[in-house]
Order: sequence, then structure tokens, then C-alpha cells
Amino acid sequence: MIYLDNSATTPVDPEVLKAFVKVNENFWGNPSSLHAFGARAEQLLIQAEKQVLTLLNAKNHKVIFNSGATESNNLAIRGFCHAYKKRGNHIITTPIEHASVHETIEELEQEGFRVTYIDVTATKEGILQQIQEAICEDTILISCMHVNNEMGMILPIYEIGQLLKKYPKVKFHVDAVQSIGKIPVDIDKMNIDLLSLSAHKFHGVKGCGALIMNQYLNLAPEITGGHQMYGLRSGTINVAGAVSLAKALRLVIEPLDSNYRHVKSLFDYAIQELEKIDGVVINSNREEQTPYIINFAAVPIKGETLVHALEEYDVYISAKSACSSKSAAASRILMALGIGEDIALESVRVSFSDRSTKEDVDQLIKALKVVIAQLKY
Ligand code: PLP
Repeated sequence: MIYLDNSATTPVDPEVLKAFVKVNENFWGNPSSLHAFGARAEQLLIQAEKQVLTLLNAKNHKVIFNSGATESNNLAIRGFCHAYKKRGNHIITTPIEHASVHETIEELEQEGFRVTYIDVTATKEGILQQIQEAICEDTILISCMHVNNEMGMILPIYEIGQLLKKYPKVKFHVDAVQSIGKIPVDIDKMNIDLLSLSAHKFHGVKGCGALIMNQYLNLAPEITGGHQMYGLRSGTINVAGAVSLAKALRLVIEPLDSNYRHVKSLFDYAIQELEKIDGVVINSNREEQTPYIINFAAVPIKGETLVHALEEYDVYISAKSACSSKSAAASRILMALGIGEDIALESVRVSFSDRSTKEDVDQLIKALKVVIAQLKY
């Protein structure tokens, strides 16, 4: 199988799975229990939290372990805006956020919050200038993703974080799902207050995620009950999920530079080969681009048709992101990035992981040439 849909999900690393199973076999106590067996589970949880904070350099933060970034984004944005609505009602974001950010903000807009969408087709300086101009007395939150999940575009998180030092009342939420373990993420240096991540995007187990939050912030809980996770996410804690998430994070962050170099060489090679194919239009050619994602169109073939045709050759890529790929409409994200509707409908995404190989790219190109020839004529 040639699996090139790693932005949708990645295979679980055997070491991570081992850690998950080990906790479930031996340390399955409830970390909220008073007895020693529960306390052992609690110790593992505390250790996992420390590891995550150290790996992402977050000194004044705590970790809400949860089911994934969708939950993190909902809690970070709705929980923050509901807790601080007396301070102001203005949110700044981008039109290319994941649905879990986009729809949460749209819902807040219905409740009376005012939203400014930054045009991210501008230069880095242009993006910063728009943010600076949009900030006003009422601004309480900026929510901006680090790497876009369909195009691979990198947003200037470090620079936005520096700008926000001038506005301590404005808090900074970053959806870092597609950057964690791929490009450097330093929570303190980037001046991030709230950061969302999902373990299954970096060889962790599905259903395990985290919201890393500034410990001095308040959030309105989304799930009430037994007050677990600092009172922000009630429900018996998934200790195995937390321990395995910390392990998965360490396994991708330690070799980050060498993994990056490897994936960059695959990206350059794939672009060079794709450009040789008649009708292929590369969408992901921006300067600020992660090599982990290539978005392109094989004109005039519909993205969905191409995905299914490649399946016949055991090659797996995607049309749009996994969560929106079942909708027939052109991608909201590609259109916001200035790509016309026709090309947007014909676009597909190839996404690498550190385990991808040159052989995978060769097989992709070989299959693409065959199916494009079949589908065109
Ligand atoms: N944010 C981004 C940028 C994503 O790519 C995804 C998933 O694809 C999510 C959030 C949601 O993550 P999950 O489905 O693990 O909750």
C-alpha cells in the first residue's frame, strides 16, 4: 500500500502502541481514586503532562488531555470567549481554519461576537499589518492555525505572538495539528496562550489529544461533571491516551530536523516529477510551505475521481481534508486562498510522514500517469 494521506491520520508507532497497552494492562486505576493504585495512574498522568510541556517549551502552561484537536479547538475558543465576554466581544481569525475552529467562531458570531477575518493571501508583513489594524479595545482572542491542513501553508505564528506582546489583553490560540512534530513549535517563544493538538497526526492513538493552556487563564468548561482535568473536562481520564501521546510527541520531536530534511527531499522530488505531467497544476507553491503537504490539480479531472482511480493502484491520497472530503462543494480553504472553483474541484492532497519513501513517490507518479491518461481520453 502506498499511503500518502498522512494529514488525515498516520499509522500508530509500535512503541506508542506498546505504551498504550502497558498502561491499560498494568496501571488501569482511576487517577482520581484516593488509594495507592489510583495514585500510580495519577503519577503517570502528571509525568505525561510534564513531558508534553517540556517538549513544547511551555513553562506557564497546563495540559487538558482530551479526545483530540476538535475538542481542544471547541474548548479553547468557546470556553475562552464565554469566560471573557465581559472584557470584549471581538475575535480575529482567518478564513482557512479547520471546521472545528471555523464553525465554533461562526456560532459565536451568532451569539453576538464580532469577527474579523484576515486575508492570508497577503505577505507576512501584510498579515501582521491587518492584525495590528484590526485589534481594538474589544479584541479578546486571535485564533490562527500554524499549518493549513489542505495546502500546507505556514502562517507567521512567531511574528503574531511577538506582535501580541504589545496587547496583553488579547490572547492567542493556535491550532497546531499539522505542525506538531513537523516544524518547530515553541509555545513560550511564540507567545501562545492556547494550543490544540491531536496525537493521531504524529503516530499516536486516535481519540487522544490535548489543549495546552496558559495556567493563568480561565475557560468555561464544555463538559461538566466530576471536575477532572482542572475542572475543564469532566469524565474519567484516559491515562493510557495521555502517556502514549507524550511518547508519540517525543518520538517525533527528537528527530524533527532529520525528518524534515528527509520529507523536504521527497517534496522537492515529487514537485519535480509532478510538474512533468501534462495538465498538473501545483497549488502548494507558496514560499511559506511545509514539505509535508502537496496540493495539486490534474486538470480537468475531478479530485474525487482521481482519488478513487488511484485507489485501484493501492495508492491513497485525498481530495480536500478528510473531514470535508465527502462534501461535493469546492474547498472553502482553496477558494479563500485565491484558487478558482474549477481548479479547487480538481485539486487533491498528497501528505507525507517521516516514514514516507522515495519509492512511495515513484509509485504515486507511475499510477498518476496511467490514471490521468485513462481519465482524460
Ligand atoms: N485542525 C486541523 C488543522 C486538522 O487538520 C484537524 C484534523 O484533520 C483537526 C483540527 C481536527 O483533529 P481531530 O479530527 O483529530 O479532532
